[in-house]
Amino acid sequence: MVFIDTDGVLIDFVGTAKKFGIEIKANEYDKWKWGEPGFPTPEEFYEEAVLQPWVDDLTFDKKFVIEMMRDRVGFAFITRDFKKPKREVLLRHGMRSDNRSYYRNVIIEEPDKSAYCVNPIDLLIDDNAAECDAWRAKGGLAWHFDLTSETPFEDFMKFWRPRGW
Ligand SMILES: [Mg+2]
Repeated sequence: MVFIDTDGVLIDFVGTAKKFGIEIKANEYDKWKWGEPGFPTPEEFYEEAVLQPWVDDLTFDKKFVIEMMRDRVGFAFITRDFKKPKREVLLRHGMRSDNRSYYRNVIIEEPDKSAYCVNPIDLLIDDNAAECDAWRAKGGLAWHFDLTSETPFEDFMKFWRPRGW
């Protein structure tokens, strides 16, 4: 099964923070204090959430989805926290109607994402290298979706489609 992280991979956390006048860098996970002075609550934040430019290509690309279906590979979105407001963000996004059920049904909230790694072909796509390491330590595959790259989505697609199309 393929597990796609939400913050960073789908939701532009850094760009959304800018809307609140907060400058953070990609990969600075410990500098954020929900609801403390100067910081929004999760509800306020995700109400303003900006999606990454590749979100449709990553989640709705027909070939990507069809290929996974061909191989009977399921996929889900996974997050450590605040599943509800994040799901609202994805539902507000102008998704293709035939894929609504993916967003509606398959967002997993789990503080320890690696608990979902149960076999060696489980793949985690995550911008947090530590999450990827924890996943690999359970024996699965992980792609570090590195937001400090100029082309994180293209980098992923090169991995996903090693021979192109
Ligand atoms: Mg993330």
